[in-house]
Amino acid sequence: MTSTDDFAVPESEDQDIAAEPHDPIPYVDGNAAAGALSEVFRIDIIAALGRCRHCGSVRAFGETMVFTDAPGIVVRCRDCQGVLLRLVQTPTKYWLDLSGLSYLEIDREE
Ligand SMILES: [Zn+2]
Repeated sequence: MTSTDDFAVPESEDQDIAAEPHDPIPYVDGNAAAGALSEVFRIDIIAALGRCRHCGSVRAFGETMVFTDAPGIVVRCRDCQGVLLRLVQTPTKYWLDLSGLSYLEIDREE
């Protein structure tokens, strides 16, 4: 047995493990999500429920701790003080980091 046997490539006639050609998963570009996202980001964020990625706490966004004495705005979890959101504004752009939130639960307008 040589060392190359450890990395043997399956024979193509092995139907159980050979890759089958199949159709690629269809997708469209980001323009298709613009309508839904524009509705989401028009909401009143204060009542939205957010889940902290650090501790799992779910609270209304209005209950968070917001620090404005920073380069931008830093929003922290009231339970663990983990960073939920960061927003930096420049004259031409917004930089939005939501990586501290597992999700936001937002009531739809009726
Ligand atoms: Zn937390």
